Amino acid sequence: MSSSTVFSELNLSAPLLQAIEELGYVSPTEIQEACIPMLLEGRDVLGLAQTGTGKTAAFALPLLDKIDLSQRCTQVIVLAPTRELALQVTDAFNDFSKHISGLSVLPVYGGQSFKVQLDGLKRHPKVVVGTPGRVIDHLNRGTLKLDGLKALVLDEADEMLRMGFIDDVETILQHTPETKQMALFSATMPKEIQRITKRYLNDPQTVQVSPRNSTKGSIAQSVWFCNHVHKKDALLRLLQADLEDAAIVFARTKQDTIDIATWLQDNKVAALPLNGDMNQAHREQTIQQLKSGKTDVVVATDVAARGIDVERIALVVNYDLPFDSEAYVHRIGRTGRAGRSGKAITFVKQNQKRLLRQIERDTSTRLEPMGLPSVDDVLKLRKEQLKEKVLAEIAKPNMERFANIVREIQSELENVQDADLLTALLALAQAEEPLFIKDFPKPKRGEYNDRGERGDRRRRDRNDRNGRDRGERGERGDRGDRRDRKPRRSSNEKMECFRIEVGLEHGVQAKNIVGAIANEADISSKFIGQIKLFDNHSTVELPEGMPSDVLTHLNKVYVCNRQLKMKRMQ
Ligand code: AMP
Repeated sequence: MSSSTVFSELNLSAPLLQAIEELGYVSPTEIQEACIPMLLEGRDVLGLAQTGTGKTAAFALPLLDKIDLSQRCTQVIVLAPTRELALQVTDAFNDFSKHISGLSVLPVYGGQSFKVQLDGLKRHPKVVVGTPGRVIDHLNRGTLKLDGLKALVLDEADEMLRMGFIDDVETILQHTPETKQMALFSATMPKEIQRITKRYLNDPQTVQVSPRNSTKGSIAQSVWFCNHVHKKDALLRLLQADLEDAAIVFARTKQDTIDIATWLQDNKVAALPLNGDMNQAHREQTIQQLKSGKTDVVVATDVAARGIDVERIALVVNYDLPFDSEAYVHRIGRTGRAGRSGKAITFVKQNQKRLLRQIERDTSTRLEPMGLPSVDDVLKLRKEQLKEKVLAEIAKPNMERFANIVREIQSELENVQDADLLTALLALAQAEEPLFIKDFPKPKRGEYNDRGERGDRRRRDRNDRNGRDRGERGERGDRGDRRDRKPRRSSNEKMECFRIEVGLEHGVQAKNIVGAIANEADISSKFIGQIKLFDNHSTVELPEGMPSDVLTHLNKVYVCNRQLKMKRMQ
């Protein structure tokens, strides 16, 4: 939550204040207001905060001010659990330091060629942001030296623990000078993180920020209760009636992002998928297209959308309900950027109402039930857009060639009234992008309405037994979804156990399994439960009801040169 303090009161240097202003930050967030003075003072900090609270600036800004530009060595290192987060933090450091000349920031993470990183490290970057495994590799090779280190940040420490990186983190800590300053950020404080804090932080100051304060700007949050209208049709209608700027649509699987984006493209909406199957360059290109307005809608998975910061996103649609409240806060935070207002619409099925209530409780927000825009709403908007286009066209120069044709038609078709001619031209002009859209079928008795209420149940059951009208895609689609996917629950959700054909004798470690599943199935690692390693196989707990296409894909994934061949256990 923003405060009444302004950045200039926080004793940050002028180049940083200038960068902050250019980024459009008006006042510091709660965590920034608390952390910046402490870190400037040289204190160690324990920040209990998650993504979306502004924690990156809370440590990056003061630590940038601690860097001595005359010393040619790495002075700040940030350890992050994933490549995505490392890149996001690097971007933030670059944004904040853009008016400080001679300050370089280098990301180092697994998966990127060593050569690029070695070249970067030879230039002694003042700040290194890395994932623990790759940082250790560089320390062991002697290509990264931390003798002159002034500060170390552990970002998302609990996530590092979940991913099995905590031993690596400790190894790195042991390579750093005792005198360095430390900041540790974690959304939760499991025992192991408490131990690390006690052992490595020096009399830390604790700052706690609750997630409910973490949504910035003003975001109007609503819920659409799925009914007889299929979700794809509902999404299209929303975008047809409400796409003032850009939108981001969250789907659960990578395949869904492609299917939904293709469906929108087929219906003349400029949409693109964004998922973990796309390489980094392709993903960045997609985000760039959203920024520049070449595309208006991005359909993304949670993991791929992490850290997207595009001001023109005015609408977030949760096509599939997120796994938990934290993911919800993170998703809707993609809108309402830089003090703008935004809208978030969440699609909720009847069997997901419990999770919806949980999200409402956790975020102390009530999601307003909404109906879909009507055909008339869409028509009204399209007519307005058409009028604007016509006016813009009239204002264009060199229209004489067209005027000549009109005069020619008028003289040849003497009996045709001008109004009829205009009408015919309009009908031709809109043939590509029709003004008029079809209405949805009316709900039958017993079906859910937009507010999630339904009428006479017996009638519905009778309809079901007799076989409902399968010609209506909405009913068929919804029934299919209900059968195939069980509802996800929040943190205490039910787990299922799976066997995978890779074990200790193949050299596997829990972090390899977490990494493979998190990346390949696009599941945040926090949803991956206990992993047990045996000699020739392992077991892993995953949320109940994993879609079968995800399992089929995981079957074929290689870890330590062996296919997982994942099988559900009894
Ligand atoms: P973080 O929690 O560090 O991932 O930050 C979440 C988002 O909030 C980032 O996209 C930042 O650009 C944005 N942000 C951070 N601090 C501020 C601020 N003081 N005012 C406005 N936006 C901010």
